[in-house]
Amino acid sequence: MDYRSAFKASVARVRAEGRYRVFANLRRVRGQFPRARWRTDEGDVRDVVVWCSNDYLGMGQSPCVTGAMKQAIDDVGAGAGGTRNISGTTNYHVELEHSLADLHGKEAALLFTSGYISNQATLATLGKILPGLIMFSDALNHASMIEGVRQSGCEKHVWRHNDIAHLEELLRAAPVDAPKLIALESVYSMDGDIGPLEAVCDLADKYNALTYLDEVHAVGLYGLRGGGIAERDGLMDRFDIIEGTLGKAYGLMGGYIAADSVIVDAVRSWAPGFIFTTSLAPAIAAGARASVEFLKSAHHLREAHQERAATLKARLKEAGLPVMDSVTHIVPVHVGDPVLCKRMTDALLDDHGIYVQPINYPTVPRGTERMRFTPTPMHDDAMIDALVEALRAVYVQHAGMKVA
Ligand code: PMP
Repeated sequence: MDYRSAFKASVARVRAEGRYRVFANLRRVRGQFPRARWRTDEGDVRDVVVWCSNDYLGMGQSPCVTGAMKQAIDDVGAGAGGTRNISGTTNYHVELEHSLADLHGKEAALLFTSGYISNQATLATLGKILPGLIMFSDALNHASMIEGVRQSGCEKHVWRHNDIAHLEELLRAAPVDAPKLIALESVYSMDGDIGPLEAVCDLADKYNALTYLDEVHAVGLYGLRGGGIAERDGLMDRFDIIEGTLGKAYGLMGGYIAADSVIVDAVRSWAPGFIFTTSLAPAIAAGARASVEFLKSAHHLREAHQERAATLKARLKEAGLPVMDSVTHIVPVHVGDPVLCKRMTDALLDDHGIYVQPINYPTVPRGTERMRFTPTPMHDDAMIDALVEALRAVYVQHAGMKVA
């Protein structure tokens, strides 16, 4: 086989569809978030405002987080030195798990090296632990949940996005005695809508199903202590497993589940994605614990975040830009074509110093390509003004938008 040609051909297919990914080479500068330095392909360095970071509250730059990390490095060094089972469990990991269990009002929590692995490893493992389990998965669930469901080997049913009647139809059709699990997200990361959490819990009670909730885009951001939408809506005790990340609002990396200790103990004992990998660096766990604890009482930051998102949405609407409906901090603006999307984001970066990545298939369905803006409390009015002006200019120039 001509391996080189095969690799090239696979990338050529992606290029032909206009969705070849180019990574912007960014340097974050301590204290300046959301400003950053961008190194162009020619090696020039330019100042940009980042509008697509998932460091939603700027915690990745917070002295309380970086201070805890520095202290941990000084105290114990860099790496964990092993898997959780073989010398890689430290007091930092244990304390962070306690902090996360407390956040969600659960008996226990379990850390993974990313949110992706938490979903994939937990769902795949539940399928092995519970013989005959049938999984019911929302159509827009994240790739990591889709992978987990697939690897579980379970019979699966995909319910139309947020369509509770369709979910009930599928549950009703399944054998009464079969074990069941319903998996959904709280905040959907690309549309900024919210799953029907309470209705799902009601159905789970009615059909005796387990409930699995991905709160990756909500932890730290919603609820009085940052416990997510389930906390905000008083539903934490109705979800059997809550999954979250330390990589977004908490500003670091890593993922976790929180649940009853019997569930955590079973996943801990059987999930290859937990067992056979080096545990998070102690400094990451120390920084994450500082971040989680800080945000439990920093409700003002959550309020400031919501205010910025509401202001941005209102300003984009006023300017006649095609901002999509979103009830959360995620602000998607419709483009509908991958090539155009890339052209517009290139123009924003090159001509206006605004960095946002195009969002293309398979992250979103074809024809719904978009730019996805994520305001933070650190985006000031001048940055919002500059963004709205720049977007009007690129929509006029590249998408033929008429300006009133
Ligand atoms: N779930 C959802 C809904 C996500 O959007 C993501 C990441 N974008 C993940 C899980 C994975 O989290 P992590 O980045 O921590 O791997």
